[in-house]
Amino acid sequence: MTLDVSKLRIVLYPDPILRTKAKPIQAIDDTVRAVADRMLQLMHEVNGAGLAAPQVGLDWRMFVVAGQDGDEDSVFINPEVTATSRDLLTHEEGCLSLPGLTAEVRRPSVVRITARTQDDEPIELTDDDFHARVWQHEYDHLEGVLIIDRMSPMDRLANRKMLKEMRAAAGE
Ligand SMILES: [Zn+2]
Repeated sequence: MTLDVSKLRIVLYPDPILRTKAKPIQAIDDTVRAVADRMLQLMHEVNGAGLAAPQVGLDWRMFVVAGQDGDEDSVFINPEVTATSRDLLTHEEGCLSLPGLTAEVRRPSVVRITARTQDDEPIELTDDDFHARVWQHEYDHLEGVLIIDRMSPMDRLANRKMLKEMRAAAGE
């Protein structure tokens, strides 16, 4: 496969790739690792907390998450959310594909996730804090789901004009 990773950019709503269900990565090879590195670079350029492959135009089941407080960044390949808590928490979220928009989103407060790393090592992690939210947000991207699908009717109304402008800017 030839893929010039330097050409990858963050794609914005309403790009149809953001609505595509991503496909499992068959082999974790150098191309996948190069894409993961490029995604980390793009995420850090805009101080993002996470970035999913569809957000750089690829229908791959992979996302990257920024390390917190000096921790290393993580790459999640073919992730599965294997458990979620029954209790939900509402928190404000933004999205690199929806610049300038924030919305209150309700999600399970505790999440367990499994995945493979860029070195094809298994990961199994549980979190009840910031990362639980980031994993769920990024996992949504692999399913073609955006925060605008999860926001309250009030947020939907408040952001209606901005979303319309983004669609108009894209020529829709
Ligand atoms: Zn996002």
